[in-house]
Formats: sequence, structure tokens, C-alpha cells
Amino acid sequence: MTQQAERVAWLRAEIERHNQSYYRLDAPVVSDAQYDQLMRELQEIESAHPEWITPSSPTQRVGAAPLTAFGSVTHAVPMLSLGNAFDSEEVEAFDKRVADTLRAAGKLSPEQQVEYFCELKLDGLAISLRYERGLLVQAATRGDGQTGEDVTVNIRTIKSIPLRLTGDPADLPEVVEARGEVFMNLADFERLNETQRRRGDKVFVNPRNAAAGSLRQLDPRITAQRPLRFFTYGWGEVGDVQRPRHSDMLDWLETLGLPVNVPEHVVAQGARELLDYYSQVGAKRATLPYDIDGVVYKVNDLAAQRVLGFVARAPRFAIAHKFPAQEALTALLDIEVQVGRTGAITPVARLAPVFVGGVTVTNATLHNEDEILRKDVRIGDTVIVRRAGDVIPEVVGPVLEKRPAHARMFVMPTACPICGSAIEKLEDEAIARCTGGLFCAAQRKQSLVHAAGRKALDIEGLGDKLVEQLVDRGRIHSLADLFGLQALEIAGYDRMGAKSAENLIQAIAQAKKPSLGRLIFALGIRHVGETTARDLAVHFGSLDKLIAADEDALLGAPDVGPAVAGSIKRFFAEPHNIEIVRALQVQGVEPQPEAAARSAGLTGKTFVLTGTMPDWSREEASRQIVAAGGKVSGSVSRKTSFVVAGEDAGSKLTKAQELGVTVIDEAGLKQMLASAQD
Ligand code: NAD
Repeated sequence: MTQQAERVAWLRAEIERHNQSYYRLDAPVVSDAQYDQLMRELQEIESAHPEWITPSSPTQRVGAAPLTAFGSVTHAVPMLSLGNAFDSEEVEAFDKRVADTLRAAGKLSPEQQVEYFCELKLDGLAISLRYERGLLVQAATRGDGQTGEDVTVNIRTIKSIPLRLTGDPADLPEVVEARGEVFMNLADFERLNETQRRRGDKVFVNPRNAAAGSLRQLDPRITAQRPLRFFTYGWGEVGDVQRPRHSDMLDWLETLGLPVNVPEHVVAQGARELLDYYSQVGAKRATLPYDIDGVVYKVNDLAAQRVLGFVARAPRFAIAHKFPAQEALTALLDIEVQVGRTGAITPVARLAPVFVGGVTVTNATLHNEDEILRKDVRIGDTVIVRRAGDVIPEVVGPVLEKRPAHARMFVMPTACPICGSAIEKLEDEAIARCTGGLFCAAQRKQSLVHAAGRKALDIEGLGDKLVEQLVDRGRIHSLADLFGLQALEIAGYDRMGAKSAENLIQAIAQAKKPSLGRLIFALGIRHVGETTARDLAVHFGSLDKLIAADEDALLGAPDVGPAVAGSIKRFFAEPHNIEIVRALQVQGVEPQPEAAARSAGLTGKTFVLTGTMPDWSREEASRQIVAAGGKVSGSVSRKTSFVVAGEDAGSKLTKAQELGVTVIDEAGLKQMLASAQD
């Protein structure tokens, strides 16, 4: 045998093996993309050597023979597969082939475009429903296209499938066969797997396998509990019903009560409009409630379909235009841990590079230890990686059939891999943390990157890579050291020329006068986000006052609860954090009053109005405050920012004085409003 003939034999055996796992056992061991590649290679060799094609080659056949556990059904009209297009050139070539054939047959004029019906390609399994005199009598899987499995009892449990067609049976053909896809919504799939996991039952790798596995149950009571759905996209035997177009046939089937995915259907003229449909669907793919693996284009005119006819396993008048796979299988090489800014330890999966969702993925977060246990992923496993839309890649779970004997469980280290400090996990938290604080180089790096960020000190040019070098070379130990940097010393760093070094030093110098809120945010106190930092700045007016504040005083700041107050207290109780604040002052960092620096008006401030003001009514004053982003409240509490007192102010003024809330008059309010507009 020549080398190529050997390859053909190997490909056929390999594809056949995958067909068995996929169609009969609902448990694939390679990704669809890998399978498609094998199929493509075989098709290419066969088209160069048509004499090698045998009727039993997987390129000539559909699916796999039915399982004998079910009764078998011979399809009156065969159920075929679809040809595939993976890029726009292949779609254009398909349209050209169709147009040429139709023109040659006199079915299309030279200036006319071919009309297509565009549908989503739901990722489930094909089913044929047979109605006799309007009643559902039989349902079958596609099987090998000629013979499928009898799944009638199971299909009857799917609520959206009518047991009786709408309308008078006397007006219906004796036999109506509707064909479509049984599938499972993503949310239902997640819930099902959660239940399976809880019960210690088999979890499904994706919604398609869950749908197929649920439908092909020997016990229909199990199918009944599974949230399966159905959409019609075709038909088999329909007596002498004749409509001119595919779309008309679907309209007819819909009037009989069969579910049709009408909102997603489009009629298109020519390849260009097909590609428009493809990109529109692609843009919303990640937001659809179900998985689709592509779209399907069908010549709409049924007479034209008959002219085009079929090849061995698929019609010539339709094609599936596939999306890049959102899921792929790859090896989980290792699980490493990453240390975040607040010491949070995140396990990260190191993966053998795999192309999924249009990018090459080499790692994916595993979030925390519980998540790893829940998913039961082990080092050495083959895992399913999913990347849908712009969502970050995730490890869905292992392929248990492929688990090697040497697969290892992940063990959370007890010491930080960066600084060696102990790793702790509080009982009520899912996250383990390195206790090293800023002693830990990883936390130091992350906190510097945070401090340089746009919402903090906004130092342009100070990114991850540079921070990494500065910390690794021991040049920077804390935020304060940043302000002592010289252009000369960093000019030689990786990716750093003389000019960019100058620019960076200038950006650092400019950051010496941040608003107080930005500086507080830059310190990276846990639970203190951008807005809280700004509120604290407004409330306390200076860093020293914030540092000196006791728990009660902290709780008096707007939107500060016990968790935030506790976190601020702990932060400033650490001597090295105070050292950093002092060192920043020594380096000449001078925070600016928040009100002057802010542009968000009176956001975060609460006012209470009392007494009679000289110019404004209370309504007018309220309107002005709200227009500037502030809030107006009816009663005074610790959370009140200002009490605006006019003549004859009553108990609210007394309360404000008791609580130490700042009291201003109308003139003070007007001034504040004017500066908030700056
Ligand atoms: P297919 O899934 O590419 O296309 C045909 C099928 O599409 C139909 O049978 C029908 O079920 C479905 N479909 C969905 N929406 C449709 C619509 N609007 N109109 C018509 N049909 C629609 O072809 P196939 O022969 O079923 O399977 C081949 C594919 O299955 C491969 O490309 C691969 O992705 C996957 N597969 C994977 C493995 C594996 O081991 N991973 C093995 C076998 C097959």
C-alpha cells in the first residue's frame, strides 16, 4: 500500500471510531474541529483519487448505524447531512456553483441572484416526527440516514412538540413528516449538569451531548425530566402538499402547530447577503440562549432544489457555514497559582495551546479550589476549553474517558510560591490568600500596577512589564520609591528607550498632585473602590484625618459599612502602610482637595435642608443639588454630608451640631455648586 493509501485507511478507521463515540455513545473524545479536520483531509485525498472512494467511506455516509437497544425505523425519505463551508470563499464558491447550475438549466437569468433561506444551525440532534391523520405516531433519530432509532416514547415527553397537529385532520395529508433539531438551552444544560454532579451522576460535556444523551434514554421517565426543545427546519413525506418555496413550507408547518425559529430566519439574495447574515448572527451568537455551530443556507425555490439534487451524503442546494468552534479539547499540563493584589491565590490551568473561539488559548483561570473539586479536573486530564464571544476562556470539565492513570489532583500550596509566606483560607471565604502583604513581590507588583492605573494615579507608560522589571531588579519596594526614579536608570530596561524613559518620568512627576480620592484609591485598601475612595476624601478632607479616624468616625462616612471600616482600620494599623504614606509625603506627593479636583459634581454627598433661605425656596435648592449629582434627605444622620441651614432652623440644626455634621448657609451652598461645575 502506498503511504497515501495507508493514510486513507487510517483516516477512515479513525473517523469511524469517532462516529461511534459521538453518535452512538454521545461521548466524543475529540473536538468537532479536530473531527472536521480529519474529514476534510479524507475528502481532499478522495477528490484527488476518486477511484479510491468506496460506498462505505465516511465521506459517503451519514452518522452511524442505530443502537439496537431501540427499535429501528426506516426513513421514507432519507435524512441527510449538510456540506460545510468554513470561510467566505467557500460560501462564494457554493453560490457560484448553484448559480451556474441553475443558469445552465435555464432556471436563473444571467442578471438574477439566487434566493436563499437562512437559518441557524442549532447544535443538537436531528429528529423526524411522523404524524398520521394529524396524530404523532412515530419519532426517529437520523441514525445512518436510512435507518434511525425509534424514540417515539421519549419524544412524546417534549412539551413543545405537538402530539396532534392543529386543524381538521380531513384537511391534512394522510402523512406529515416534520424534521428538525432537538436541543437544550444553555441555562437548562448548566442546571442539569449541576443536578447530575450533586447526585454523583455523569455530567455532559456540552448541550449537544446532553440533548442526545437525554433523548436516547431507555427509560422515558428520565427524558421527561430533561428540558429538551425542538425547532422544525424541514420535512420528509408530506403527501401531495406542494408550496413553491422552502420558506412557504416552513410557514405551512408552523400553521400546523410545529415550533419554527421564525425570528432568526432571513431570505437573502446572493453570496453577499449570505455573508451579511453570517456576521449578524456571529455578533449575537454569545447572547443566544442555545449553542449554534453555524448557519445554514438553503436555495429557497423548491423547483431549483430539485434541479440541484444531492451528492452521497448531503444536498447540493444547501450548505452549513460553520462558526469557529467555541469549544476544544486539550491537555491540562499543570495547575499553577497566581497571587493577586490583595494576596488572593487563583489557580490557573496551563493548557497545551489550543485554537478556540478564534484565538489560541494557553491558560484559563480555575477561580478557586472549590471550583476545581466541583469540576473534578486533574493535572494530566484532557479537558474541554470553552471561549464564547469575548468571555475569558474557561475549563468546562474533564473528558473522563481519556483520564490517564497518572492524572493528579491539585493540592493548594501551604506557602506562597512567590514569597514563601503562609497561605490562609478563612472559613467563610472561597478564596485562599497569601499572608505576605507587600512583602510579597507578586502583591507588590499588582499593587503598583493598580496604583498606576487610570482610575488611580493615572501614570501613562507604567504597565505590567515595566513594573515587573522594577520590582524584580529590587529597584522599587513600594509606591513611594516610584517617585524617586530617574530617567537614566530605566532607559536601558526592556522595551524602554531614552525618549519613553523621559516621558515616563514626566508622567510620574505629574502624578505627584493627585486628587485625595485618587491617592486613597491608589493605596489599594481592600473593599475601597474608586467611589468609596472619593467619598472618604470628601468626608475626611485629608489623609491624616482618615488615618486617625476610629471605627465610629469611619462609619460616619457615606456608604461605609462595618466591612469597609474594618478594612481601612486594619490597613492603617500596619506600620509599613503608614511608612509608605510618610515616604510619599517625603517624595513630595501632595494630594489635592477632592472638591476642587472632582468633576463629578456633588455625587456622593447628601444634603439636609432646614429653615428659610434668603433667595431660594427649599424646592429650588433641592433641584440645584440634585442637578449637580447630590442627594437631598429629610433627616440628619451620621451619613449626612452637609446641613444647609436658613433662618429659624429647628431640630435638624441641633442634631447636626450634636453629630458634628458640617453646617453651611445658602451662600456656602451656592459656592459649592459653582465649584462643582468647574
Ligand atoms: P452537521 O451537524 O455538520 O450538519 C447536519 C445536521 O445539522 C443535521 O443533521 C441537523 O441535525 C443539523 N441542523 C441544525 N440546524 C439545521 C438546519 N437549520 N437545517 C438543516 N440541518 C440543521 O453534520 P453531521 O453529519 O450531523 O455531523 C458532522 C458534524 O458532527 C461534524 O462536523 C462534527 O462537528 C460533529 N461530529 C463530531 C464528532 C466528534 O467526535 N467530535 C464525531 C462525529 C461528528
